[in-house]
Parts: sequence; structure tokens; C-alpha cells
Amino acid sequence: MTFVYVSGRRCLDFVGTLKWRQSARQELLTDPELLSDWAVQAGMLDAGIDVSDDDFAAAIALREAIYRTVIARLEHGRPKPADVDLLNDYGSHPPLTPRLERNGTARREGTAAQLLASLAADLLDLLAGDDIDRVKGCAHEGCTRLYVDSSRAKNRHWCGMGTCGNKAKVRAFRQRQRAAESTIS
Ligand SMILES: [Zn+2]
Repeated sequence: MTFVYVSGRRCLDFVGTLKWRQSARQELLTDPELLSDWAVQAGMLDAGIDVSDDDFAAAIALREAIYRTVIARLEHGRPKPADVDLLNDYGSHPPLTPRLERNGTARREGTAAQLLASLAADLLDLLAGDDIDRVKGCAHEGCTRLYVDSSRAKNRHWCGMGTCGNKAKVRAFRQRQRAAESTIS
């Protein structure tokens, strides 16, 4: 499976692995191996890692805690105390760290536990900085992807042009076409 990375932050891309959260939920991480694939495609690891069933369950729980916590912040609410504890716990563990080889090259490697620590730390770093005020939900109906709007005018509406942006443009074009046709007839 090829994953999509459009959020501008790893923790938000991770949240996006459960799509259409309010309607027809689509789970992209249906298997522990897919978590490893996701991390490799995200550029967090150079090669696949072992992910146990326990690691996988922990990853999904962490992902949902990240989602709830970001939404709480966007809605000016407080995160759940259990999520605060969980995120602080993961965030305090050793994250993924590239390893320098004798020949001068470096490799991105680590364990599933380190991967989860990195994702939690990425969220905590996001919440600590200014970028959290630029986090938005995609404006396309049903899409629940979150992203950092780093456009200067802060006018990005969609998670990605290749994903929802094109769909929205096609729909607007058809609407204009229909409107034009109805004026002619
Ligand atoms: Zn979208």
C-alpha cells in the first residue's frame, strides 16, 4: 500500500491513517506490518521493523489519543487526562535516532517502541510551538485529515491538491457547467 503524506507533520500524517472519521471510516493500518511500511514511507526508518500485536494495538491507541488531543486544542477544549498521561508517557521514551556508521553514512533505524515515542514527541513539539495555530481540518466534505497550513496567506483549504483539492475543483467545475446549461435552456 502507498500512503499519503500531506499534513506537514508526522503525527498528523499518522492520524490520517484512519480516513473519513465521521462517516464511512476507512482504516489504512489493518495489519502490524503496515505500521512498519507507513514509517518507512514516511522516511522515519530506512527498512521495515518488527511490529508485535501489542506494539500495533499501542500504536492505534496512541494515534487516537493524538487525534483527540489535537481536536480538543482546535476546539479550545482540554484534552482527556488519560490522553495527557499516555502522550507524556510515550513522549518520555527514547525516540528513533539515526545511527552513524564507521564509513560516514547514517541509517535511520529503531524499534516500534521508539517509533511510537517519536510520534508522541512530534505531537508534543507541535503543541509547544506556533504551528499548532496553523493546524486545520480538510474542508472537503467527509475528509478528516489534519494538516499544518504553511501557506503565507493561511488560505489552504484541502489536505492535498492530489487528494481532496482536485475533487473539490471538479465538483465546482461541474456545478458551474450545470448552472451554465440551465441558463441556456
Ligand atoms: Zn482532504
